[in-house]
Amino acid sequence: MNPARRALLAAAASGCFASCEFRDGAPQPAGALLGTDMALGHALRDGTLPAPTEERRIGAAIVGAGIGGLSAAWQLARQGETDVAVFELEDAAGGNARHGENAVSPYPLGAHYLPLPASEAVSVRELLADLGVLAGDPHAPLPRYDERHLVHAPQERLYKDGLWHDGLLPRAGAGARAIAQIERFDALVAALKARRDGDGRRLFASPSLLAGRHADSDALAATSMDQWMRDNGFDAPLLTWHVDYACRDDFGARPAQVSAWAGLHYFACRDGVAADADPHNVLTWPEGNGHLVRRLVGWLRDRGVPPIRTGAPCIRLATARGGAVLDIYHAAERRSVRYRAARVIWAAPAFALARVWENAPPAFAALARSIDVSPWLTANLTLASLPEDAGPAPLAWDNVLFDSPALGYVVATHQRMRVAPGPTVLTYYWPLADLDPAAGRARLAAAPWQAWAAPILDELARPHPGLRRQLQRLDLWRWPHAMPRPVPGFRAAPVRAALAALDGPLLFAHSDLSGMPLFEEAHWAGVRAARRLLGGAGVSAPTPAARTGGRRPR
Ligand SMILES: Cc1cc2nc3c(=O)[nH]c(=O)nc-3n(C[C@H](O)[C@H](O)[C@H](O)COP(=O)(O)OP(=O)(O)OC[C@H]3O[C@@H](n4cnc5c(N)ncnc54)[C@H](O)[C@@H]3O)c2cc1C
Repeated sequence: MNPARRALLAAAASGCFASCEFRDGAPQPAGALLGTDMALGHALRDGTLPAPTEERRIGAAIVGAGIGGLSAAWQLARQGETDVAVFELEDAAGGNARHGENAVSPYPLGAHYLPLPASEAVSVRELLADLGVLAGDPHAPLPRYDERHLVHAPQERLYKDGLWHDGLLPRAGAGARAIAQIERFDALVAALKARRDGDGRRLFASPSLLAGRHADSDALAATSMDQWMRDNGFDAPLLTWHVDYACRDDFGARPAQVSAWAGLHYFACRDGVAADADPHNVLTWPEGNGHLVRRLVGWLRDRGVPPIRTGAPCIRLATARGGAVLDIYHAAERRSVRYRAARVIWAAPAFALARVWENAPPAFAALARSIDVSPWLTANLTLASLPEDAGPAPLAWDNVLFDSPALGYVVATHQRMRVAPGPTVLTYYWPLADLDPAAGRARLAAAPWQAWAAPILDELARPHPGLRRQLQRLDLWRWPHAMPRPVPGFRAAPVRAALAALDGPLLFAHSDLSGMPLFEEAHWAGVRAARRLLGGAGVSAPTPAARTGGRRPR
């Protein structure tokens, strides 16, 4: 094992950050240790925020302005309901799809891409059409996307054995056994992708809440992805690495920590097609999914939805038959206001709801706490020029590291029409999957900037020996409660039923609903809640025939 990987693994696994110093007397670059507002979050948890001094009446309230909350507001406004107050704890909307920006480029802080929307993701396509990402009819069998938003070639490459290779599964030198396993895995995934239940619903739908129920999917949801790989005789290192990468990429967890259903979902749910893109192409932007957040916020403003109240956590919630009472702390004014609303859409994590919902059913807090939550760290590295590297595959949008507990990095300036050899920002993704989630959060709270920066730079020096010379800034973003983890058994877990059953004055619209931390999942949770609020229409899956006007997508 190379020394940089050993240092990164040691730092992640043991928390032994004290040994991670800058090497060779290299000058320490400028940078900041940033992240979600832990002080406000802890004050909320500890109940130290002030009681309300004023009372107001509002129509509907949405708590949380991540993709779930913004999608709920979008759906309500689309149906003409704009009397909505959106409250967000952080100082900006977007949740873990928010972004940062500097003089060089905007860049993602978290979520950074969207696969082509799957056949079930009708409302994702409608949203993308409203935001100008999808050009023309969102219901067309082969939708057309604005090419500025489709990832430009090359899409991805892998650093393995001292070289960059095209794609994530380089077959050259893989060996006949590995290639045979990859082909068998692909065939199994293709069969799973095509499976439908008696109502025509796919087993691996995206969003997963629209998937059909089947004994096979229940069995897959009960076992781990790791076990499924072993049961199916998949042990070739390239393939097991690829599956491990997919689980870390989507869930911030290892194959032993997620269900086989979730692990396979990554591969089997993606059936999106486009008139102007290959099915495996993705939609992405310099600022990642922050682009969609920005456009959504603008769209809501243009439709007359009141501005999102940021720095405004809900610190107490009480529900009653006729409505709900929310106490909101307005951080800029350092005071709290009591709002009486007819309906509330809770679009923040379930554990956050359990903290503030004072008349929740007795078992609710324990259920909400039963959701495992993965912690993550992202790093934004501003470079004076594009990284120098060892070919043969050229710099891609997504640059993945084979022998690493981190995923690699995306290039913010990749989508510029002509890549000029100028400054750039790389966003480095590090799911803390090798630590117990609670230990990961403790580490994020305690470890200083240097303790994270040093192993990241050592790791990136492997493919890019000159990187330190090019580096202008290194900013770190901590995500202690980044995303729900779909552990074995989660699909049948009582907490899912409890969240799905919320109705009346309180509806739930966060990706915790499905336990699948993906744009489509958060979006559908928001749309579902909004439609329920408006009267319950259209919350189940459209049949394939209804979706495409009688023609099945290819
Ligand atoms: C590093 C990282 C990379 C990712 N990459 C991708 C990707 O490329 N593609 C993809 O599809 N998905 C990605 N994801 C998954 C991402 O979680 C989902 O796509 C989606 O953004 C989740 O949205 P959400 O609304 O469910 O939750 P969140 O983003 O968690 O939004 C919840 C919001 O509620 C707010 N909130 C919490 N408590 C309160 C309170 N008491 N009062 C008011 N507000 C509150 C939070 O501040 C937050 O803004 C990534 C996630 C991370 C962390």
